[in-house]
Order: sequence, then structure tokens, then C-alpha cells
Amino acid sequence: QAYLDRIAALNPSINAFITVDAEKTLAEAAAADALIAAGQAGPLTGVPIAHKDIFCTDGWLTTCGSKMLHNFIAPYDAHVIQRFKAAGMPSLGKTNMDEFAMGSSNETSYFGAVKNPWNTAYVPGGSSGGAAACVAARMAPAATGTDTGGSIRQPAALCGITGLKPTYGLVSRFGMIAFASSLDQAGPMAPSAEDCALLLNVMTGFDPNDSTSLDREKEDYARDLDKPLAGLRVGLPREFFAAGLNSEVAAAVEAAVTELKKLGATTVDISLANSRLAIPVYYVLAPAEASSNLSRFDGVRYGYRAPEYGNLDDMYSKTRAQGFGAEVKRRILIGAYVLSHGYYDAYYLQAQKIRRLIADDFNAAFKTCDVILGPTAPGTAFKLGEKSGDPVEMYLNDLYTIPANLAGLPGMSLPCGFDAQGLPIGLQLVGNYFSEAKMLNVAHQYQ
Ligand code: GLN
Repeated sequence: QAYLDRIAALNPSINAFITVDAEKTLAEAAAADALIAAGQAGPLTGVPIAHKDIFCTDGWLTTCGSKMLHNFIAPYDAHVIQRFKAAGMPSLGKTNMDEFAMGSSNETSYFGAVKNPWNTAYVPGGSSGGAAACVAARMAPAATGTDTGGSIRQPAALCGITGLKPTYGLVSRFGMIAFASSLDQAGPMAPSAEDCALLLNVMTGFDPNDSTSLDREKEDYARDLDKPLAGLRVGLPREFFAAGLNSEVAAAVEAAVTELKKLGATTVDISLANSRLAIPVYYVLAPAEASSNLSRFDGVRYGYRAPEYGNLDDMYSKTRAQGFGAEVKRRILIGAYVLSHGYYDAYYLQAQKIRRLIADDFNAAFKTCDVILGPTAPGTAFKLGEKSGDPVEMYLNDLYTIPANLAGLPGMSLPCGFDAQGLPIGLQLVGNYFSEAKMLNVAHQYQ
């Protein structure tokens, strides 16, 4: 009830939630109380959580930030939602996001932009902007997010919270609306690394409903939180500290490195040379996959349908013309183009080859270091409207986050200070495959 009250007070100015349903939340809270009374409580039973509106939630509106799904009530729970429910965590509502998770500022949402709680003239980052903002404003103690090119880490950085994108395949995407399937991954967003470890313990696990779900033994991600950092080798990619990085962000990240050294870490100079191609590669591959994934939104099966149309083709085209926003249409057009006959080899295939080279750079780097450290984003939060007119300028915000998605590696962002305007700065850690416990250990020791 306390969180619902805070949402009622703050959400009108922050716009972090698309849907709040106090009755449903309180019913789930009562069920959690019953679990506690029956002595069946887990570590998070009764702790409420907000869910990104990309996760299907049984009986709740699930919009993915789009007019296309503005009226879609999901008929089942995503795997992640099932897990949080089973852990006794009541849902606080569905959080705002960029339309179909395409964006870095939350300004592409059909439901309006989210405001950064530190200064409401600024963006919260995206696409999980509502999730980051509601945690930063303490409207929720935790939230789910998804990260295709940085959508957990970049908004976490811009809002001053902690967010983790797990290794690709660790968390099931069943019931998570698909954007770019070879990149999409769900993860936790919360104030601290310790919180994220507990949330990750709930989220992970094999799911036969997702063909990319990994069948591995369950780990306790909180097990190493208190391990000392003596002997830790921190890799500093020289390309991530080069031109384009805001000087206040650089100074804060360097100060964090000094802190880690005091805790016993040593630094290693590494190179991720092919990462300079990560943005062009991502903006071939992600739209290609999106153009295929989004073909299901045709006005026939669910969601929006144009009110007036002639024949079936006309119904499809009017529905999609009216139901999708400008950024989503831009991605569908790019995707259809790079996959078309005569262009596939020149763009799609080339991008796949460079993707491999980017992953190879990481593999080489992890021979000499345990974790890679750098900035999460090239700057702090920018003003609403500042970049929305220039897609390429917006895409550049994901310069440091996209490489980990292309390689399938885990990454996290944690707060490491503030700029002169009082806006939070994010520090990024990228780990080797399945090294979430190690990253959380480093983050927790630093925090
Ligand atoms: N900002 C990137 C994009 O617009 C990443 C989004 C994401 O991770 N979902 O595609």
C-alpha cells in the first residue's frame, strides 16, 4: 500500500507506469501474506516488483509501449512473471517503455515520455525508462527490464540505479514480446547489486518454452557478494575511454577504478578494436530481426485494427500505418531492406561476420582479465527532445552497451557518482559468459 500511495503521488509527474491496478496488487500481497503465515516464504516473499510492459501478464494490459497493443490484455504470464509470482512478489504494475523497446530515451512510447526523477526536464534513458525511473523515485523497490542493445544498463545509468543484463539464454523470454531475438535478454533493475543478485536468483532457470533457454544447474548469484577483491584483474578497453566520452563521466569512472585498486584489484589495458563497428552492425541485425518479429502485428489476431478499410491488404496496411510509431516503422523498413534479395550479402551477412569479430575480441580480452570496466553511456541524461529529432545521435548513446549484446555476454551498470548538474553517472561491468556472480561481487564490494 505504501508503494501504491507513492505511485499515486509521483507517477503523474514521472509517467513511469502505464498500468497500475491496486486491487490486483493488494490481492497478490494478500497471497504473499498467506505464504508467510504458512511458513513458505522465500527471501523476497512480500517484496513488490514493477514489470516492464513488454512482459505478458495474465489479465493485465500489456502494451509494449505501442498503440498496436494499447488494448491487449495478455491471456497468460511470461515465464519471468510466473517466477516472481511463485516467489511471492506482488506486481505493482506495468512500466512505461520505448515502443517495442526501440529507443534510448523513452520518448518513442505511445503513452508519452517518462521523466528522469533526478530532474524532470531530462530523459530517464530507454528503453526500460519507466522501470529505471520508478526504482530511482522509490515508487518500487525493484523492477524487471529487458536489454537488446543496452535497455537495462543505459536507463539504470541515467537514473542512478543498478541493472544487470544476464548472459544470453540464462533467462527465458517466453511471454516477453520479441524485438531482436538473437539479442533480447531480461534482467533485474534495483537500487543495489545485492538486490539484483536476489532477483536474478528468481529469474534464471531452464524453460522448455524458449528454444534458447540454457539447461544449466541453478546458481546462487549472491554467493560471492562478500568475497574480497584481492587479485581481481580489471580490463580497461582503451576504445571505451577515447574521444566521444564526456569528461565528467570519464573522471567518475576513473575514480571508481582507483577505489577498486584500493580494494585489491589490478588493471589491465585491453583492446576491443572491432567494437567501433558495433552500432552499424547492431542497426543491421536488430532491425532485420525486428522486421520479421513484428510481422505478427497485422490487426487479425490481437491488438489494434484500423477502424475503416477496404480489402484484407488494405486492412493490414492501414492497421500497421496507424498502429506503429515512426521509430518502429524506420526499423521495419531498414530490416526489410537489409534482408531483401541483392542486399542480404552486402549488409546482413557482413554484419554477422563482424559480430563474430566483436565476440572474438572479448574472448581474447578475457584471457588477461576477469571483468571489463568502462562507462555505461557516453554522457549523463540529456534533455527531453534534445536527441529525438536525430536517430543517429540517439543510437550513439548505446556505443558502450551494444558490444556485450552482440557477443551474448553479461553486463551491468551501477552508479558511480554525479555530474555538476546532479545527474547520475553509470559504471559498466562486462563479464565473461556465466560470470554474473563475479560481476555482482565486484559491484557489491564497490557499493
Ligand atoms: N537503444 C537501443 C535500440 O533502440 C537498444 C534498445 C534495447 O536494448 N531494447 O534499439
